[in-house]
Amino acid sequence: MKAAVVRDAVDGYVDIVDKTLRSLEFGEALVDVEYCGLCHTDLHVTGGDYGKFPGRIIGHEGVGIVSKLGPGVTALKVGDRVSIAWFYGGCGHCEYCLTGRETLCRNVRNSGFTVDGAMAQQVIVDANYAVKVPDGLDPVQATSLTCAGVTMYKALITGHTKPGQWVSIVGAGGLGNIAIQYAKNVFGAHVVVVDGNEDKLAAAKAMGADVLINRHKGHVAEQIQEIVGGVHNAQVTSVSTDAFNQAVNSLRPGGTLVAVALPVGDMSLNIGKTVLEGIQVAGSLVGTRQDLTEAFQFGAEGKVHPIVHTRKLSEVNDIINEMKAGKIVGREVVDMSL
Ligand SMILES: [Zn+2]
Ligand SMILES: [Zn+2]
Repeated sequence: MKAAVVRDAVDGYVDIVDKTLRSLEFGEALVDVEYCGLCHTDLHVTGGDYGKFPGRIIGHEGVGIVSKLGPGVTALKVGDRVSIAWFYGGCGHCEYCLTGRETLCRNVRNSGFTVDGAMAQQVIVDANYAVKVPDGLDPVQATSLTCAGVTMYKALITGHTKPGQWVSIVGAGGLGNIAIQYAKNVFGAHVVVVDGNEDKLAAAKAMGADVLINRHKGHVAEQIQEIVGGVHNAQVTSVSTDAFNQAVNSLRPGGTLVAVALPVGDMSLNIGKTVLEGIQVAGSLVGTRQDLTEAFQFGAEGKVHPIVHTRKLSEVNDIINEMKAGKIVGREVVDMSL
């Protein structure tokens, strides 16, 4: 079968190779991949930013059909449509796995990074961890919910988002776009969107954003304080430390900053403001199996529509170049049947 693997040189690109998967072990299933989205995290893996894994099959935004079961599998059956997410599996018995925080497991396995991923015609999954894709959810759109969707759904939960509250989405790219839809259509929140690009702000408006702030025009936090009285939670999806600092100052007392993006560096946090206004700061990392199940269900109900386009497996390096050049709106998803 064909697969996109990290090059021996770990130079940021992939080779498309013929690969034979090992046989299934206890509790595993084989999935014939239908679609797999390409994510910025894959670019970090191909470039060796988190460690060098030459030969690793990339991909953690996969959806496919179970074609074979290993011994001992009870959670899946042949013919089920399942997802392959960044959270491939936890140890199942640590403090985090036992308390609904399995993505923090210190022995976590990540698809397309520490285990072979889904940018291939077939992938092996841990049957207890492969989340089913519900009927009624378009499988191409499901690939984006597997990553950006569950990440933002979980981040909005982490921000304690309630109906009628104000949420700011800082950065209106791939994550921000989906965040607006979950915030409005699932949580019933009012949304402020902060971005520096007028086209992205216009797209945010079309998705229902209530207040738009161009970060190049005036003081971001002051404007948010003035217009809505500060936000209940700020979702920072922008890879800029400035964005984090502005987001803290845009919170109302009792507000929560939710850090989703991963810029290198530190954020400045005024201790006085933090104490006197009861500010909370929380990191949010992807989501659990249950979070993904819920994120999928809202997609199936038509509340969230990621922007997706399908491509061929042979085009992965072209897509990488387009991503590096910032040319892509939404997600490029490889259709393994093309
Ligand atoms: Zn991803
Ligand atoms: Zn664990």
